[in-house]
Amino acid sequence: MSLVVSKFGGTSMGNAECMLRSAEISVQQKSFLICVSATSGTTNQLISLGQTAEKGDSNQVQMLAAELIAKHQTIAKDLGLPQDHAPLIQLFEEMLSIAKGMQLLKDCSPRALDILLSLGERTSSVLFAQAMKTQLAKANVKKEVVLFDARDVIATDDQFGSARPQIAKIAELAQSQILSKYPQDKYVIVTQGYIGRSLSGNSTTLGRGGSDYSAALFAEGLNASTLEIWTDVTGIATTDPRICKEAKFIDEISFKEASEMAIFGAKVLHPATVEPAMRKNIPVFVGSSFDPAKKGTWVKKEVTQAPLMRALALRKNQTLVTLSTPEMLQTHGFLFKIFKVFNDHKISIDAITTSEISVSVTIDGEIKSQSQLVQDLKQFADVQIENGYSLVSLIGNNINHTAGLAKKIFTAIEDINVRMICLGASKHNFCFLVDAANGEKAIQKLHTEFIH
Ligand code: ASP
Ligand code: MG
Repeated sequence: MSLVVSKFGGTSMGNAECMLRSAEISVQQKSFLICVSATSGTTNQLISLGQTAEKGDSNQVQMLAAELIAKHQTIAKDLGLPQDHAPLIQLFEEMLSIAKGMQLLKDCSPRALDILLSLGERTSSVLFAQAMKTQLAKANVKKEVVLFDARDVIATDDQFGSARPQIAKIAELAQSQILSKYPQDKYVIVTQGYIGRSLSGNSTTLGRGGSDYSAALFAEGLNASTLEIWTDVTGIATTDPRICKEAKFIDEISFKEASEMAIFGAKVLHPATVEPAMRKNIPVFVGSSFDPAKKGTWVKKEVTQAPLMRALALRKNQTLVTLSTPEMLQTHGFLFKIFKVFNDHKISIDAITTSEISVSVTIDGEIKSQSQLVQDLKQFADVQIENGYSLVSLIGNNINHTAGLAKKIFTAIEDINVRMICLGASKHNFCFLVDAANGEKAIQKLHTEFIH
């Protein structure tokens, strides 16, 4: 039997009209479980609320909280809910108490913040459940809507702010808390993206944009037949349309290509989304809830065409860290020592190149020369930090087995200085680093050469 998991992002939850449209799509698609984001902008507003509370500015806290309440009350009213709808009032009260607590304790630690952030998705899901009831009734579908707390299934570790899911536990809970309680022919489950619970019982979040990942984890745990990610763009494009107006939407793309794309900077899917889908071979559809009739993109294991170049991605704000030491010459263990330092700082390395006495790695985001990471690396080597690069990635198939490709790439961008190149590790990716000022230009030229 087919089982569809659908996810709606913040813009698809933007107001009552958006929610009703999204709910209508869920009815049409016969979604069993629907995982929703907070309404658009809400997570950012909750973060400011937490930060303001920590500073102790109570007037400002009251103002920010009032804005959040008013915004959700408007949607509630437009969906026909009474202003004193108990589940909403409870959530608003919880928000005010947490903000108050943060203010008194002057504490906006990741752990405290995660509880506050959980309110975004918990509130939007109450509203969406109402939209869902309306649309099921309109379509004369006799199914009961269950508002389900995602934290009862999404088990995580306690790395607050970017908690890691516990896959086996999630599968067990999906079975016992959802599948065995709510048969698909009688129920529709509305739940939250982004949030989970640590084994010690605390609320956690999966990292910004994590609702896609949540939906994929639910799909995996429920053995879904399809995962649908509904957003505000009609699928995955060959490159960011804001950078290159020739960008086109892709009909289908393989799991491997899609994960390279997400990791290397395309913003459509949260980078971890593809993993659970890949483990269970669940096809993923990406489409626009504003224009559901448009084809969208399918991400799946087997694709009918595997072009040499599928897409281009740009990841800005990259740092190049170069470590050199003559000690590296003909000895062993050097890479082990320095990678251990990155590991101890929980910093992930994206691209690497090495020579006999030096190694360069790229890191997402800015690194300060005075940081502890740099101090620790200096025990083993001379360290050079260069901020402000952009990583350009070409994503496709058989990239490391195609004669003449490097020549074509670098001819297309011959007037741009390339600082570091990574080729060979993957059939699906070729990436290189350029000055921030040249990133977009490189993408435009390569798109013309290989895709347009
Ligand atoms: N609401 C969360 C965020 O804004 C998660 C999501 O939208 O995917 O990051
Ligand atoms: Mg999002």
